[in-house]
Amino acid sequence: MQLDAKIPGGPIAEKWDRHLFELKLVNPANKRKYDVIVVGTGLAGGSASATLAELGYNVKSFCIHDSPRRAHSIAAQGGINAAKNYPNDGDSIWRLFYDTVKGGDFRAREANVYRLAQISNDIIDHCVAQGIPFARDYGGLLANRSFGGAQVSRTFYARGQTGQQLLLGAYSALSRQISDGNVQMFARREMLDLVVIKGQARGIVVRNLINGQIERHDAHAVVLCTGGYGNVFFLSTNAMASNVTAAFRAYKKGACFANPCFTQIHPTCVPVHGTYQSKLTLMSESLRNDGRVWVPKDPGDKRPSRQIVEAERDYFLEEKYPSFGNLVPRDVASRNAKEQCDMGKGVGETGLAVYLDFADAIKRDSKAVIEKKYGNLFQMYEKITGEDPYETPMRIYPAVHYTMGGLWVDYNLMSTIDGLFVMGEANFSDHGANRLGASALMQGLADGYFIIPYTVGGYLAGTEFADVTPDHEAFKETENDAQSRLTRLLAINGKRTVDDFHKELGLIMWDYCGMARNNEGLEKARKLIQQLRAEFWENVTVPGTGQDFNQSLERAGRVADYLEFGELMVLDALARQESCGGHFNEAYQTKGHEARRDDENFCYAAAWEYTGKEAEPQVHKEPLIFENVELSQRSYK
Ligand SMILES: Cc1cc2nc3c(=O)[nH]c(=O)nc-3n(C[C@H](O)[C@H](O)[C@H](O)COP(=O)(O)OP(=O)(O)OC[C@H]3O[C@@H](n4cnc5c(N)ncnc54)[C@H](O)[C@@H]3O)c2cc1C
Repeated sequence: MQLDAKIPGGPIAEKWDRHLFELKLVNPANKRKYDVIVVGTGLAGGSASATLAELGYNVKSFCIHDSPRRAHSIAAQGGINAAKNYPNDGDSIWRLFYDTVKGGDFRAREANVYRLAQISNDIIDHCVAQGIPFARDYGGLLANRSFGGAQVSRTFYARGQTGQQLLLGAYSALSRQISDGNVQMFARREMLDLVVIKGQARGIVVRNLINGQIERHDAHAVVLCTGGYGNVFFLSTNAMASNVTAAFRAYKKGACFANPCFTQIHPTCVPVHGTYQSKLTLMSESLRNDGRVWVPKDPGDKRPSRQIVEAERDYFLEEKYPSFGNLVPRDVASRNAKEQCDMGKGVGETGLAVYLDFADAIKRDSKAVIEKKYGNLFQMYEKITGEDPYETPMRIYPAVHYTMGGLWVDYNLMSTIDGLFVMGEANFSDHGANRLGASALMQGLADGYFIIPYTVGGYLAGTEFADVTPDHEAFKETENDAQSRLTRLLAINGKRTVDDFHKELGLIMWDYCGMARNNEGLEKARKLIQQLRAEFWENVTVPGTGQDFNQSLERAGRVADYLEFGELMVLDALARQESCGGHFNEAYQTKGHEARRDDENFCYAAAWEYTGKEAEPQVHKEPLIFENVELSQRSYK
């Protein structure tokens, strides 16, 4: 397989405009002849469905939830980046582009990132026009705050509910199209497989989660917007229903999976507090605008935080990174927090936490100001921990949060299967080895509102399609395969629950393929996952039937995929013998314990191709060529 990223020629700032002109168009009257399936209704899928339908395509939109607006995007708290430069503090499209490439530790494709920075400004205009209640300053201009890895304030926000407000905007646009009859909405459907006919994605097979019916849906193109796979770790900040299933099954049908080992561990989450926990809670990065991170200077110091005076505290991020301070990128902040805890300076009962302290900000700005900025986050923290963060510092620890890896896509966001497009967190496209805060919402909406409407059109206009209906043999086969997998899961009748397997897998992934990795641990993880997978297919218990609402069956299918996908992550981590961004192999670090890249040998995106059940997947390498940003050791000092 030859990966062709289809990057347009010309200077980077002109590539997208040039491409827009070169893409073929579908004339308005012909658009209604095309059906497009969009799987997922988060910010990427919701915006794509609405926009494609607005253009005139027949859209079929699918989601797992009972309502499109329950997609995980609703959880996004802190904000969305754009290069508007409203605060006049030196921002520009170029700076956002540069920060994103550098933040991703030089493992993203320059052309895509530049386009993202360009489009960022259109997103804000679009969302303001929709009525998104972004925070404003006293003069009425949209307010901005800072996120990690940037020295400017470019993050637009709606208190701590930015994702919710943006999703309501996309959902309103989608609802308008549903009521106009241009979008057929299929809620409570889980995509079980992709149907590929003559090399083209022509449909999907889904399970109706309420009555268990398997359904076939055909189209001329399929757009996957199914989110990230952080839940492979069991504990993560992702919504419970986030999964890898749709992407992984597309991988098995020929879509390459890129950089699966690139996982983001977010530094500011409520620490794990028990073995019965199934979810971790994010404390938004925006809090690091005002909160100061510290630990006691002396290892083992267990005094209450307020008894530890200034001279006895180690503000380790401010000390080590004076330029960026508490707002270093997530991978850097997380590793440093872990390092402090490994030295015995962690706080709280488990010693696996550091403080995020607002005392100085409250003294400086007043409690009322801090409450206005972060009130809902403080309330959430207090509800979970029983501690009042206005009085005592928050305790935070890194947790799995986002996955930079995803299905490989070219500049048109098309995968290695013709007609299968992938957007939002489900693709690998824009964030390299580490995503900067507030850039996921930007990417999802750029993909959905501004890129896919053009590139899908370009594909449809330039492609010949055979007549295909759901009676086609390929649909029958795909449905049979999906059905027999469900039947097999229900028939095992073993002794361990699905969650039990998931927890064990999560621990393996966290211990050996988490914040720090080494070759020995990765080799061990691979064997452990293989053993666990074998046991799963012998000993899992899935109660109930397939002809009914059955959440155990849903979860069993997803965990079965994670048990295969986890191994692919480990394989990818093993193959990448360097450290970069969120992929930290302990053998490759600088003297200051930063990730040490090997640009000579690993400056590529690794795209894995499925080659069969018992066969090793094959890696294809897309070289990353940096013509506009100089490759350098990242420094936030
Ligand atoms: C707690 C939290 C806070 C965050 N805060 C921010 C922030 O402030 N700023 C920022 O930029 N980013 C933030 N992020 C990241 C960001 O929210 C996500 O990356 C982004 O929302 C993903 O959007 P998406 O549209 O790609 O996918 P999602 O919103 O995850 O949507 C996935 C959709 O796919 C559907 N789906 C999945 N699998 C299937 C299947 N098999 N069949 C059918 N449907 C399926 C789901 O039902 C859903 O509709 C945050 C993440 C978390 C966890």
